Amino acid sequence: MVKETKFYDILGVKPGCTQDDLKKAYRKLALKYHPDKNPNEGEKFKQISQAYEVLSDPEKKRIYDQGGEQALKEGGVSGGFSSPMDLFDMFFGGGGFGGGRGRRRERKGKDVIHQLNVSLEELYKGTVRKLALQKNVICDKCEGRGGKKGAVETCPTCRGSGMQVQIQQLGPGMIQQIQSMCSDCRGQGQRINPKDRCKQCQGKKVTRERKILEVHVDKGMVDGQKIVFNGEGDQEPELEPGDIIIVLEEKEHPVFRRSGLDLIIRLELQLVESLCGFQKVIRTLDDRDLVITSLPGEVTKHGDVKCIMNEGMPQYKNPFEKGRLIVQFLVQFPDKLPPEVIPALENALPPRPEIMIPDQAEECILLPFDVDKQDSRRRQNRNVYDEDDEMHGPGQRVQCAAN
Ligand SMILES: [Zn+2]
Ligand SMILES: [Zn+2]
Repeated sequence: MVKETKFYDILGVKPGCTQDDLKKAYRKLALKYHPDKNPNEGEKFKQISQAYEVLSDPEKKRIYDQGGEQALKEGGVSGGFSSPMDLFDMFFGGGGFGGGRGRRRERKGKDVIHQLNVSLEELYKGTVRKLALQKNVICDKCEGRGGKKGAVETCPTCRGSGMQVQIQQLGPGMIQQIQSMCSDCRGQGQRINPKDRCKQCQGKKVTRERKILEVHVDKGMVDGQKIVFNGEGDQEPELEPGDIIIVLEEKEHPVFRRSGLDLIIRLELQLVESLCGFQKVIRTLDDRDLVITSLPGEVTKHGDVKCIMNEGMPQYKNPFEKGRLIVQFLVQFPDKLPPEVIPALENALPPRPEIMIPDQAEECILLPFDVDKQDSRRRQNRNVYDEDDEMHGPGQRVQCAAN
């Protein structure tokens, strides 16, 4: 048992979930609430980050599970939390993907991360998805200068310092100096003379352009996999553009569940099929039909698991290698049988074991077992005992009086 579940609730996971579940939950929520996508959800983004930071660290998680947030504050885990942005960059950009981006290059623009929902069929067969997005491109009219050549001048407001100083009179003989960023040049110290400003970009040096990316989803790619478009991020003068990173999000499939290279399917059998053999057809992710057969005389029990080789997911970069298709059988028992068929059934089935009933044995009645019912009775009892803590509604009063 854990003391509090707040951090688990923030990530939408249960205590006891795996590190993979945590990663997946963080990935999903952090992409959704990143300030680039959701500028008004800064607080939520921070909470997600803090929850993940604690739960992904075995030592912090242990302290939190035992004593909750308070224990973290009091305990040896000092230094507070990392910045949510740093954690995000580490999670998504931490050298985990190819393209020679081990160290962070200086003077590089921000990476832009997009999530792409893909179906299991698409991951099985591979596909090309087109993604339309807006990005900043260096203005081609002024070549990123923002105006005519030589139009850049020292900001007359701040005289190039980028700062403005305001003097406030606080009282007789008392003044205060307040420094703030120059609002005319936004701290740059330079500005474009308004009459020379580039008409195409209004002096912003970049223009917004629509761009279509072709995302190649290869056979066997996995949930969370990143596809990197080097240098396709926003352009900015004097900066190497960042990357566009596409993160795949596998949609849940109504029939198949993926487990590594294997696919899992649950097949329902009627009791007659389980006892007397069956044929079943399974439609694959690439729309082929597989027939499976259990011959008469073979019994398939409830919960039996069988597999078909080479009908699982293709291996990434080696798609002719496939995993297994694992078939889980669920046997549907009939609710009732007509009494007249029982003798024939008894004849066909292995004989009943013989039972000796002792003389003093007590006769009991079997009732249907209902977990919820038991629970609700206990809850009712608790209400009676906890009455003082509750608001005394009129209904409850009547009840008390009747007792
Ligand atoms: Zn200025
Ligand atoms: Zn321009």
